[in-house]
Amino acid sequence: MPTALITGILGQDGSYLAELLLGKGYRVAGIDRWTTTAAFERIQPLLDEIDLIQADLHDQEGLMELIENYRPDEVYNLAAQSFIPASWSQPVLTAEVNAVGVARLLEALRLIHPKARFFQASSSEMFGQVLEIPQRETTPFNPRTPYAVSKIFGHWLTVNYRQAHGLYAVSGILFNHESPRRGPEFVTRKITYGAARIKLGLASELRLGNLDSRRDWGFAGDYVEAMWRMLQTDTPEDFVIGSGDAHTVRELCEQAFGGLGLDYREFVVQDPRFYRPAEADILLADPAKARQKLGWQARVTFNELVQMMVDADLQRLAKEMD
Ligand code: NDP
Ligand code: GDP
Repeated sequence: MPTALITGILGQDGSYLAELLLGKGYRVAGIDRWTTTAAFERIQPLLDEIDLIQADLHDQEGLMELIENYRPDEVYNLAAQSFIPASWSQPVLTAEVNAVGVARLLEALRLIHPKARFFQASSSEMFGQVLEIPQRETTPFNPRTPYAVSKIFGHWLTVNYRQAHGLYAVSGILFNHESPRRGPEFVTRKITYGAARIKLGLASELRLGNLDSRRDWGFAGDYVEAMWRMLQTDTPEDFVIGSGDAHTVRELCEQAFGGLGLDYREFVVQDPRFYRPAEADILLADPAKARQKLGWQARVTFNELVQMMVDADLQRLAKEMD
């Protein structure tokens, strides 16, 4: 039975990846950083089947002990400070976790268990103010946020440990991926939850920032499959993982509110508080390499994704109101 270690297992992707790997017969371990209010909601149904270990990407010794104890076949580094606005208010913390944290984990592997296969969750935000549309593996990075800068360090370090130390280490350049388990501060969930609240009479408006930026949104369940496939190839390589289809935030509003029989223009208020100091205007993947070499493509369409999220938020709210 192969063993997988997932950092960030309590996050959106961690929960989908844990489900996928358990289904494939893996022994799954994940790290959980200690907090006063533990949030196990996303992996509640899996708690009996996975090992949760207290560790933190800030703590080198803990990571080394973990690698020594588990000697995992595959390591998925999904842990991150993943919210872009927080990377402006906490740039040092963002760098500590998203950049230096990758170095800590790679060092632990290099020193103790270099045979492990390593996946790094990189981000389309690294393309920032894009130099090419659509973006592919060879598109130069041009970051617009402290988050993107930190992720570029993690990306290049992963490439470097492959080239310099011979580790099987790969970077997945992930475009935005969402689900009913997405954090409520990200724009998709903010809109689907906000629209559902308005539909149920629990709110009368939804305050958002820039409605014109375009993102390539896919379903997280599809993207964790790509992560796994990336670690099964004979030769370690980096891949762009996205759907190849982009929409504006405005179109997302239209779709989410429209599905509930509402006109978003009556409820959405643009609020300068949610504008960013610098924006990535258009992120759109060219996923050709992933299709050719991994046989992977996003299955859930934009409309299906929005519908899935709106339905889940309606159900969740209806339960709370009971
Ligand atoms: P989430 O924010 O949902 O999950 C991140 C997880 O990392 C959380 O469980 C969090 O723990 C954990 N974490 C944060 N800091 C630390 C730390 N110091 N030590 C250990 N764990 C920590 O992100 P997603 O699941 O959406 O994303 C997974 C990865 O993919 C991230 O690296 C993200 O940056 C990257 N990515 C995601 C994209 C997306 O659209 N979702 C797009 C591109 C890249 P806690 O639960 O305690 O807060
Ligand atoms: P990101 O692409 O990783 O930053 O994912 P987000 O979901 O946080 O943001 C996606 C896009 O939505 C960005 O271009 C934001 O500027 C835009 N956006 C517009 N209004 C909002 C808002 O109220 N909250 C968030 N999070 N993003 C918003």
